Amino acid sequence: MNKDTVTKKLMFYFPKCECDKPIIYHLVKDHHLIVNIFRAKVTPEEEGYLVLDVTGTEAAIQGGIDFVKTFNVTVNYSGKGVIRDEERCSHCGYCVPYCPPRALKIEDSVTRKIAYNESECIECLACIRICPYGACTSAF
Ligand code: SF4
Ligand code: SF4
Repeated sequence: MNKDTVTKKLMFYFPKCECDKPIIYHLVKDHHLIVNIFRAKVTPEEEGYLVLDVTGTEAAIQGGIDFVKTFNVTVNYSGKGVIRDEERCSHCGYCVPYCPPRALKIEDSVTRKIAYNESECIECLACIRICPYGACTSAF
């Protein structure tokens, strides 16, 4: 991997008719990107989405995105798959041991406030399932 390599988190929304196209295959083979899929819902009957990291040069990533868009796929660059609602979070800490990459962790040992580092989230969805206050939600 050269020094110009970067990793970007993207979401692809697939319209109904494009779900069967080998898009990921072409991102890897033709655009030389490393693809790490976190989450996917792709069925022939309905719209689908992929949440993924792509690694490559800026130019290769842009080329891959341009390619994907030719299939009428919408690309979301925000990287916000899992959102924590600060208003709803009671900082109970229940989610902390369930978060594999420690994206949710105790920020301060005195206040016991829970911090969320979105860039470390691997979208396992555990916090969404177990948060008693519904503070964690998914954009998808
Ligand atoms: S389980 Fe929910 S309310 Fe408790 S700290 Fe985690 S996100 Fe906040
Ligand atoms: S989705 Fe998984 S990795 Fe992301 S914050 Fe929730 S528990 Fe942690």
